[in-house]
Amino acid sequence: MHLRAFALGLVLAGVSPAAETPPPSPAMSPIHGLVLHGGAGVITRENLTPELEAQYREDLGRALAAGHAVLAGGGTALDAVIATIRILEDSPRFNAGHGAVLNGEGRCELDASLMDGRTLAAGAVAGVTRVRNPITLARAVMERSPHVLFAGAGAERFAEQVGGIELVPNEYFQTERRREELLRAQKKEREQANRRAALGGPGGPVFATIDENDSLDVERKFGTVGCVALDQHGNLAAGTSTGGMTNKKFGRVGDSPLIGAGTYAANATCAVSATGHGEYFIRVGVARDIAAQVEYLGRPLAEAAANTLAKVKALGGDGGVIAIDRSGNIALPFNTPGMYRAHHLAGQTPEIAIFR
Ligand code: ASP
Repeated sequence: MHLRAFALGLVLAGVSPAAETPPPSPAMSPIHGLVLHGGAGVITRENLTPELEAQYREDLGRALAAGHAVLAGGGTALDAVIATIRILEDSPRFNAGHGAVLNGEGRCELDASLMDGRTLAAGAVAGVTRVRNPITLARAVMERSPHVLFAGAGAERFAEQVGGIELVPNEYFQTERRREELLRAQKKEREQANRRAALGGPGGPVFATIDENDSLDVERKFGTVGCVALDQHGNLAAGTSTGGMTNKKFGRVGDSPLIGAGTYAANATCAVSATGHGEYFIRVGVARDIAAQVEYLGRPLAEAAANTLAKVKALGGDGGVIAIDRSGNIALPFNTPGMYRAHHLAGQTPEIAIFR
């Protein structure tokens, strides 16, 4: 019965309620925290100037503080993940939103996904070209549609219909730095095609094998962004947002918008967000594989994450993951020279790191 109706009932019955006791609040846990990544890859001191490193650290710190403020204020893991990712999407330095990498046609096609560990609700978008913050559209898919994943033009029609989703021209995402990266990747692609032709093999990049796909990302800096969080209510959430890989084919979709590959969260186990060469991460089912080891084998989170990443490596894939479990244990393994990453656990000092 509603509290006021109950009190009214007592008054009508001639009984005065003893004392005004507040309704019981759900148990709040002091353990909360979040972990974020801004992509893994060949990120070394030699190829990052001190100025650029300072800018990356500033972005990572701002994103971490925004997410942590949500958690510290008693907000949900889901809101913390979105607050964090939006900041990284708006920064020109990461491969998500503004500053995303370009596909082979010189356009940005963005992917994002989000999962709520409390209910296993999830939302994702793939190949969107006009949505300023794809993570907000992933949330709309989760909360305002009966579906989990929308792709391409349909995703954008859905954005127009639900309203409140900022749409921008594709040029908003494109930066000079990404154009230069695309030109370098395409040069390498041509060189590979010529080598194959000289060997008498099939000529076009369409026939490239997966081993030759490093023309996708010639510098092997992935730059996707992601966040996992545990809130004071004991709920986990995870989200990932990306432009995919430089010089990808039109319509190519990576692991980031795929629930179970790039993103996964379940209160019973853990929350995971991945970054790396998506073709390998999809085939290992990375995010769910980590959660499954925690669930079925009772493996500690760090062990599960390392184990899954070893499977990716065995296939030939590079990258990293971030993960947090319901006890606040975290793991941030990567098999590349660097990964933009940061974490802040309740009662501890925030930490930001880039290199191995
Ligand atoms: N995993 C992303 C993809 O393959 C790339 C990245 O992590 O930067 O689309």
